[in-house]
Amino acid sequence: MIELDGSQGEGGGQILRTSLALSVATGQPVAIEKIRAGRAKPGLMRQHLACVNAAAEISGAQVEGAELGSQSLRFVPGPVRAGDYSFTIASAGSCMLVLQTVLPPLLLAAGPSRVQLRGGTHNPMAPPFHFLERAFAPLVRRLGADLQLALRRCGFYPAGGGEVDATIVPSADGLKPFDLVERGALLSGHAECLAPGLARHIAARELETLGKAMGWSGDQLRVGTARQNEGPGNALLATLAYEHVTEVFTAFGEKTLSAEQVAHALVRELRDFQKSQAAVGPHLADQLALLLGLATWQSGGAAAFTCSEVTEHTRTNCAVIERFLPVRYAIEEAAGAATVFANYRGVAAG
Ligand code: AMP
Repeated sequence: MIELDGSQGEGGGQILRTSLALSVATGQPVAIEKIRAGRAKPGLMRQHLACVNAAAEISGAQVEGAELGSQSLRFVPGPVRAGDYSFTIASAGSCMLVLQTVLPPLLLAAGPSRVQLRGGTHNPMAPPFHFLERAFAPLVRRLGADLQLALRRCGFYPAGGGEVDATIVPSADGLKPFDLVERGALLSGHAECLAPGLARHIAARELETLGKAMGWSGDQLRVGTARQNEGPGNALLATLAYEHVTEVFTAFGEKTLSAEQVAHALVRELRDFQKSQAAVGPHLADQLALLLGLATWQSGGAAAFTCSEVTEHTRTNCAVIERFLPVRYAIEEAAGAATVFANYRGVAAG
């Protein structure tokens, strides 16, 4: 039984999700204590329970402590089963985080899976659908597997009710790691504003403010296709397509923020990324670390990528992955970009 302290490092839900994913992927039971102990509402919340239940369903796991507010969990997985699954988060929690939990083991399963997800699709502090579709899924495909995502309906906090279909096809001859050190030349950039159920001027003002700051105009500024009854909600997305990678950055509207403030928050993120020379941004970094960890484990190879910022999420994720897989990460920080190495010989772990 692998024993983990859920309050270590970043101390949030990601420790739980990565542990569940890798417990199922490797068949190793896990016990987690002090789950989200330092948070305002500690322990398992509804969205975390949905992840525990989803991981249990795809592996026939035996679970103790899967209750609201529980700070300890024992999870004993069976073998991962490919198949058709449907997971719903009744609250407005992010269903994209449920996908983050079941995807790694299903990428290693004996056959393809179809996963229907219901809940929030564009939630603050979670990967939005468009980020997973445009930035993350192409990197899964580069490993030799396939991940196709379809957005049926948007879901925002607090109403939820979004719908996403995911098709996951493992690689016939195992996941293959790759290096992603350079992003290459910028090919295109565009923004889109999702603001269903809100006054029209909100999307117009967000796009205008962003357009002025980034020098974007015309077709680079789009009103997204969310239907009015999918709201109320507001996500402002910017997609930067480079030669070797596509990144998606997102700012979320809130009642207390003006449309201009939402746009400026996104501009700051975009400028930070553009100022660096890194291949991936702060969020893609922690998610890519897990994908490359799996691929180096399966293939016995090595991988490296550069990122614009090393977050606590990335450091903690690497530490948790190292508990489950024979993969050693090393992080080198330098002006302009940090490099994350997985199993590179000659680079000291740390
Ligand atoms: P946690 O805060 O521990 O629940 O983990 C949140 C997860 O969502 C991490 O993998 C983050 O990288 C990811 N995430 C948060 N915000 C974004 C965003 N704007 N775009 C992409 N991923 C995100």
